[in-house]
Formats: sequence, structure tokens, C-alpha cells
Amino acid sequence: MNILEQNRQHILNQIRAAETAAQRLSGSVQLIAVSKTFPAAAIRELYAHGQRAFGENYIQEWQEKIGQLTDCPEINWHIIGNIQSNKTRTVAEHAHWLHTLDRVKIAQRLNAQRPAHLPPLQICIEINIANETAKHGIRPDELLPLAQQILDLPNIHLRGLMCVAAATADDHILRQQFNQMADLLRQLQTIAPQADTLSMGMSGDMAVAIECGATMVRVGTAIFGRR
Ligand SMILES: *Cc1c(COP(=O)(O)O)cnc(C)c1O
Repeated sequence: MNILEQNRQHILNQIRAAETAAQRLSGSVQLIAVSKTFPAAAIRELYAHGQRAFGENYIQEWQEKIGQLTDCPEINWHIIGNIQSNKTRTVAEHAHWLHTLDRVKIAQRLNAQRPAHLPPLQICIEINIANETAKHGIRPDELLPLAQQILDLPNIHLRGLMCVAAATADDHILRQQFNQMADLLRQLQTIAPQADTLSMGMSGDMAVAIECGATMVRVGTAIFGRR
């Protein structure tokens, strides 16, 4: 077995163990393999073993990989980086998910640019849960007003929330932030009952995120190695 696939199997085992520990259904957490900075060949390798969901941050790099991966038609692309409004067209035309929505203007552009033959773009709103100026995302109190403004756009589908938690190994702080995300999802569900997604947890904090209700974890380093 290839080393990347070994790493992926190890992560999948950790995900299953964390689901069990949290008394959650097996399979309720999806692995997004974050392939930024790694070549198309690494993606193709995992695709051959069944991985379908890949996360990318940088639009230009991603665009190049799309061109190189026409032999992997079932890839589900998850855009997890902050996007400028001049990059929305590529996202609208090629992505399945955008995890990092933080402005109504981006939502309107994606809605207008989503090709008619594709299903709606699946969207998570990014919350700056660590409340750090260097991080993207909106404040918790901005959530419902933003959600309200994008709910009626037919070509995007609001699915939930995403965060990057504080860079700490302190489980207590992580748990507090991830629990607050779960709370916010419940608030969101009062106006968007279809919202079912919590995109949270990375290589370093995945287990705590799953304990707190993550439905998608975004793992890069632990699969592909250090960037
Ligand atoms: C790079 C990145 C990840 C993956 O982080 P690792 O620590 O390498 O697992 C997850 N989420 C976002 C938003 C990222 O930018």
C-alpha cells in the first residue's frame, strides 16, 4: 500500500474511533483530504483508493490541477480558502462545496455564475470562532443576518458552518470553540432547517472536533505530509 493511502487509512481509523467514542453513528463524519501545495499525482493516487472529497485553498493552483485530473471525474472539490470576488467564476463552475463564505457579495456572484446544468453550490459560512484578527470568517452575531440574505439564492445551498479553531493543543479551549460552533449551527437551523454540516477539525484537533459534532474534517498534513 502506498504511503499516502496508509496515512489516509490511519486517519479513517481515527475518525471511526472518535465517532464511536462520541457515541455517534459510524460514517457520520466525512474526510476531506486537503491537497493544497501537493501535486495532482498525489490526488490521483488517493482517488485510485476511493477518496473522492479533496480540499483546495488557492484558486490558481486548483485550476491547474483540475486540468491535470480529467481522468478523475468523480472528484468532489471543496474550496476551503478565502476567495476574492474576481475568483468566484472558477469556484461557481468547478467546485462542489465552498466552506468559507463570509460576505453576501460573494454569495450573489456565485449564485449568478453557477452554470444551470450543475446542482446548487453547497455552502458553509465561515465563523471566526477563535476571534483572531488574522483569521477569516464572520463574528457569531453576524451569522443570522448573513444567512437570511443568502437563503433565497436558488443556485447556492446553505449547508452549515465552518471554522478554523485556535492553534492550540489545549483541549479545553478547543472544546469550548467547537461546542460554540455546534450551538451556532442549532441557531442557524431555526431559519435554515436543511443546514446539517459542521466543517471543523484538522490534523491537530480532529478528535475534539468530532466529539463536539463535526460532520466534515479537513485533513492535510496527516495525509500528505508537511507543507
Ligand atoms: C490547510 C488547511 C487545512 C488542513 O490543515 P492540516 O493541519 O494540514 O490538516 C484545513 N482547513 C483549512 C481551512 C486549511 O487552510
